[in-house]
Amino acid sequence: MTELGVTAQPPVTAAPVLEARGVTMHFPVHQSRRTARGRRLERGAGGRTAGGRTAGGSVVHALEDVSIALPRARVTAVVGESGSGKSTLARVLARLLPPTAGELLLDGRQLPASGGRRAYTRQVQLVLQDPFSSLNPVHDVRYHLARPLRIHGLGENASLDEAITSLLERVSLTPADQFASKYPHELSGGQRQRVAIARALAAAPKVLLADEPVSMLDVSIRLGLLNLLNDLREREGIAILYITHDIASARYLADTIAVMYAGQVVESGPAHQVTDEPAHPYTQLLRSAAPDPERAGPPVLAARGAPPSLVSPPPGCRFHPRCPHAMAICADRAPRDFEVAPGHAAACWLHAKDLDAAQARPIARPPAGQPASARSSAPELSSAPELGEESR
Ligand code: SF4
Repeated sequence: MTELGVTAQPPVTAAPVLEARGVTMHFPVHQSRRTARGRRLERGAGGRTAGGRTAGGSVVHALEDVSIALPRARVTAVVGESGSGKSTLARVLARLLPPTAGELLLDGRQLPASGGRRAYTRQVQLVLQDPFSSLNPVHDVRYHLARPLRIHGLGENASLDEAITSLLERVSLTPADQFASKYPHELSGGQRQRVAIARALAAAPKVLLADEPVSMLDVSIRLGLLNLLNDLREREGIAILYITHDIASARYLADTIAVMYAGQVVESGPAHQVTDEPAHPYTQLLRSAAPDPERAGPPVLAARGAPPSLVSPPPGCRFHPRCPHAMAICADRAPRDFEVAPGHAAACWLHAKDLDAAQARPIARPPAGQPASARSSAPELSSAPELGEESR
């Protein structure tokens, strides 16, 4: 594990179908500049421009040493705000992006760096966030479902109609023959997402990677989609990765939650423990921002500021510029995983038992309104406020 490579290992309750170990994903930063004639020169990390100049070597640290395991018949939720690396992780798991480092294992076997894409895709399917753009508007539902059946050799002509009917019934789009002849524009958002899930099921996958599958749907129909995913887990034993920024829906659906911040997993464990007794200040922040019908006032948010730049992430703990509990050691050394309960881990120095007084000195937080960078480099020390002390 690297200094920046904080990995909180999720608990594995059964042999994982799909596993990522130490996955790192860096994207080169491309810069462009114009020549005197207006010609654009592209510059990328480690490469040369069209004009022969070398690039600066900057990269976006989208994922850093992330490990996650997806057991059969379990829902594993990955929770975090925009830019935390959730969707990049889904794309790496779907093998749409080759990771910079780390490995993927399917049924315990390491996958080759290249090749075998079709066989892999048949077993690991990705459902995207936007049901409005993931279906081709010029084709009907039958076409969308028949195509993967044919590609994966699962539906001969004689049984194709039966297979399509079965798929539509599995996602509760009945009567199936009526939905099969509809075009995407004739469906609601929820129905489109069900078609997208049926299309993924056409390949008979072992793993479903659902990237924010309900975030673009009306609140009133989200629950139906979550219950559908739950049914697929229970009835068919599919391993599901549920990616969301909504920790409340993750608690509702998932068995295990992994919380991501700035490309790293900072906390993981059983869903009820992570949400009821969050051990990492960032998870506490997420929970405080979740809708709560029993809360009278607005959410109480302890941390302020924006997520850090992933081109030059903060040293030490990446959350320290925003963390109300930040200590001297946090700005200097990345925390390792600390087990806070069986199967529940948090990458946070608050759970270290052997810090000396100098390491445990709280970092001063300047007055509200000052940029996060100023807070992280403030030279003076003072007591860190308690969580919930500050309100937005
Ligand atoms: Fe990070 Fe330190 Fe805050 Fe823990 S206490 S989240 S290690 S800054």
